[in-house]
Amino acid sequence: MPKALITGVTGQDGAYLSQLLLSKGYEVFGLARRSSHLGVDDHRLRWLGVADRVTLVDGDMLDLSALLRVVARTEPDEIYNLAAQSFVATSWDQPILTSQVTGLGVVNILEAVRAAAPNARFYQASSSEMFGGRNAVQNEETPFQPRSPYAVAKLMGHWATINYRESFGLHASSGILFNHESPLRGIEFVTRKVTDGVARIRHGLASELRLGNIDVKRDWGHARDYVRAMWMMLQQGAPDDFVVATGRTTTVREMCEIAFAHANLAMDEHVVIDPALYRPAEVVLLRGDPSKVQRVLGWAPEAALEDIIREMVEADLERLRPT
Ligand code: NDP
Ligand code: GDP
Repeated sequence: MPKALITGVTGQDGAYLSQLLLSKGYEVFGLARRSSHLGVDDHRLRWLGVADRVTLVDGDMLDLSALLRVVARTEPDEIYNLAAQSFVATSWDQPILTSQVTGLGVVNILEAVRAAAPNARFYQASSSEMFGGRNAVQNEETPFQPRSPYAVAKLMGHWATINYRESFGLHASSGILFNHESPLRGIEFVTRKVTDGVARIRHGLASELRLGNIDVKRDWGHARDYVRAMWMMLQQGAPDDFVVATGRTTTVREMCEIAFAHANLAMDEHVVIDPALYRPAEVVLLRGDPSKVQRVLGWAPEAALEDIIREMVEADLERLRPT
């Protein structure tokens, strides 16, 4: 039975990846940190019905000694490094923590892999935010232009992954993933904020939804499709880097319209633009070119944005349904 170690197992992608790997017969270990009030918050793993089949191991990306012990103890064949301070807006308020977890944390786990499991295959969760949105379409050759402390930190992780591959021969791949969503997306990200807001308005729990710049464009896919691409990358004989995207870009405004329309609500009656939610620097346009991942790995997304938003609205309506 192959063994996988997932950092960030309690996050959106960690939950979907756990589900995928378990369905393929893997033994799954997940790095998790305790919190004072919840122990480990495994609500996403529970939502997908896999919590009791994932073995949680205690550790934090900032603690190299813990990572060394975890990698040595679990002896993984594959390591998926998904842990990060992943919210762009927070990265301006906590730039040092973001640099440490999202950037230096990658070097910590690479060091642990190099020392304790040099033959394991390694996946790094890189991000389309690294591109900065200056080009009309972004692929593996597009120059990087990070526009937030988050993107700067992700670039460190991306280059560290490539450097450990070239310097020490690690089987290390970096997936440059465009935005991907699901009912398990963090509530602060715009898709989930919108679907949660729509559900609150529908149930009479709120009347307005405050948003920032809704003219920006994103290339949105479904997390379930994107974790499949992560796994496919590590099944390759040779490590490599791939852009994972749908190739379609949509404004936040259009995404909102889909969500409100699904709940039979008029967006214009409820959305309030709040300049306080504008970012210090913005990535105005992301649109990925998935040609390489399609050609080399045979990957293609299954869910379209309309499907994703409908699934998210339905899940939030159900979660918030008055009892
Ligand atoms: P989430 O924010 O949902 O999950 C982040 C995970 O990282 C959580 O499990 C969190 O644990 C963990 N984590 C945070 N800090 C630490 C730390 N110091 N030590 C250990 N674990 C920590 O992110 P997603 O699942 O959406 O994304 C997965 C990865 O992919 C992230 O690296 C993200 O930056 C990247 N990415 C995501 C994209 C997307 O659209 N979703 C696009 C491109 C890249 P806890 O539950 O305890 O907070
Ligand atoms: P990101 O692409 O990783 O930053 O993902 P987000 O979902 O957080 O943001 C996507 C885009 O939506 C960004 O360009 C934001 O500026 C924009 N946006 C507009 N209003 C909001 C809002 O209220 N919350 C968030 N999170 N983003 C917003």
